[in-house]
Amino acid sequence: MSIVRKLASKKQRALEILNRLQRLYPEAPCTLNYATPVQLLVATILSAQCTDERVNQVTPELFRRFPDAVAIANADLAELEAIIRPTGFYRNKAKNIQAACRILVQEYGGNVPARMEKLLTLPGVARKTANVVLAHAYDIHVGVTVDTHVKRLSYRLGLTKHTDPLHIERDLMRLLPQEDWENWSIRLIYHGRAICKARNPLCDACVLADLCPSANLMNPPQQELSSVLPAQTPAT
Ligand code: SF4
Repeated sequence: MSIVRKLASKKQRALEILNRLQRLYPEAPCTLNYATPVQLLVATILSAQCTDERVNQVTPELFRRFPDAVAIANADLAELEAIIRPTGFYRNKAKNIQAACRILVQEYGGNVPARMEKLLTLPGVARKTANVVLAHAYDIHVGVTVDTHVKRLSYRLGLTKHTDPLHIERDLMRLLPQEDWENWSIRLIYHGRAICKARNPLCDACVLADLCPSANLMNPPQQELSSVLPAQTPAT
């Protein structure tokens, strides 16, 4: 098959996968709790190497004490660390959150800029966080959010051969219409949590089984998957 035809059939398969997942998860809101773009930015930074559930356990107290960028910028670092400690890597996260909020206050009037290149200059913010914030706070879609679930499922579904987020994101951006980039990510995250689990995917219960080259493979190519399957990293 020519490269062009291969890409076209992969695109069709990706769209069919998305259709099915949209039927399965018609409502798929962001699972982090937040009230403002600043709070979403902070919650997303906290979600690195941590479950959204755990982040949602600490953010009510965090946002009660420090509701906006100004409050976080001026917070006592030790208090910030104590509140976010359950999310892990709390010293680094507290430092990044405070440094990011200081930049928001100094350069953006306490608001989160709605531009990828500006977000990427904030401490603790890489493309994954920036994509989440742009999509959910501003409905701006400039990339595909690639978290641990999107990595694993996109690989298993044969839509990428890559294991690093940047290349996976590029592959997915080629396959999917821009308006569906966040639809794709959020639904893969839901499906990864419910069915296509890291260690024991429930292929018999999966609506994508007939489209998935990894369906019922008891022994997926572990060598290649080793960097996709999170060994110690809790699913987010
Ligand atoms: S068929 Fe299995 S490996 Fe493929 S997406 Fe579904 S659960 Fe995951």
